[in-house]
Amino acid sequence: MKLGAHVSVAGGLHNGVAEALAIGADTFQMFSKNQRQWIAKPLTDDQRDQFRTALAESGLGPVMIHDSYLINMGSPDETKGKRAQHAFLEEYRRCEALGVPYLNFHPGSHTHPNKAMRDDHATREAALERIAGHINTTLAKTEGFESLLVLENAAGQGTNVGITFGELAHILERVDDPSRMGVCIDTQHAWAAGYDWAGDYDGVWTEFDSLIDRERLVGMHLNDSLSDRGSRVDRHANHGEGKLGESVFTSIMQDSRLEDVAGYLETPGGPDRWRPEIARLRKLAER
Ligand SMILES: [Zn+2]
Ligand SMILES: [Zn+2]
Repeated sequence: MKLGAHVSVAGGLHNGVAEALAIGADTFQMFSKNQRQWIAKPLTDDQRDQFRTALAESGLGPVMIHDSYLINMGSPDETKGKRAQHAFLEEYRRCEALGVPYLNFHPGSHTHPNKAMRDDHATREAALERIAGHINTTLAKTEGFESLLVLENAAGQGTNVGITFGELAHILERVDDPSRMGVCIDTQHAWAAGYDWAGDYDGVWTEFDSLIDRERLVGMHLNDSLSDRGSRVDRHANHGEGKLGESVFTSIMQDSRLEDVAGYLETPGGPDRWRPEIARLRKLAER
């Protein structure tokens, strides 16, 4: 498994490459713009070329871009849905222009204000349908793009949808061209959503395989968890300091089915923590 972390691009996108090299990574994840703002200045040709050159020289990859946290393609509000779709399309164009193969995104939230409706089946399904619709519009407007749209499972905070493999499958089944889609499984989010990596590692993948084509799985976010299993709380922990524990990551690192999947850390603490965490994961891969 190629390993990396979500690095900072402060001072320019190409700095992400330098940071990934500094922590001894094989690859990395990054934002391609300020993730808390809707609008970014368009990429200049210089910015694009500087990044592409730095990346090509580094030999790192496959790189993943994480989209903005503001985008909610599950929104039932038409104006908000359109705005999300527009921002998503812009993210995709930047990703393609940068030659980055994966655009990772969170499915979205149904936003029903009544707490009793949080897990209402029809309400959740309607949001999944809206998300698939926005994805299809995006795909139709970007024919010929090579970057994949990579669906990430959510932890289930608030009214998040796409928290079970079944909900991810529901979206994928409605996408017009699934060959342009990937899946990224965040270990912390899956745990928070109830999946028992620690007690039943094989069972988690058995469920995955019953619902989603393995070929779709391109990435994993390798985070330990501060929050309890099933808590629906999105709190990443450093390796060795969370509730998943080393045995889960040993299983992942020694799982031959995951050899071609890229693993990205989204753990707290920055480069000083990522360098030893990546080294540690590599050790776990040794049998
Ligand atoms: Zn993640
Ligand atoms: Zn998270």
